[in-house]
Amino acid sequence: MRNCASNLFINHTHMDQHSVIEKFKVIKKKQFYTITPMVLVVILLVVLLENPKFALFGLSRTVLYVVAFGGIFLGLIFSLKNWRCPACNGYLRKNVNPKFCPKCGIKLQEN
Ligand SMILES: [Zn+2]
Repeated sequence: MRNCASNLFINHTHMDQHSVIEKFKVIKKKQFYTITPMVLVVILLVVLLENPKFALFGLSRTVLYVVAFGGIFLGLIFSLKNWRCPACNGYLRKNVNPKFCPKCGIKLQEN
């Protein structure tokens, strides 16, 4: 029974705990730089829908809609690829600050 828990931990991943935490820091940073512009784009969309006469840099509304929906779409695609566990590649779901992977249970962040 000695070290049972830690053996289990090592067996189900090929990466050591430290490199998983380091990799997750990068994933989290990328996710932040994806989500932040997406939030701005969603705000832009809301402004567009609420104000029929709103214009930005003289661009037509069609262009703004295409840019906004395109940006959201690309952001979602990137999130689906990026927001994954470094050890098992499982999707981390909607948790914005996961401490553990919901799939393999590996620790993703130091407390
Ligand atoms: Zn995992």
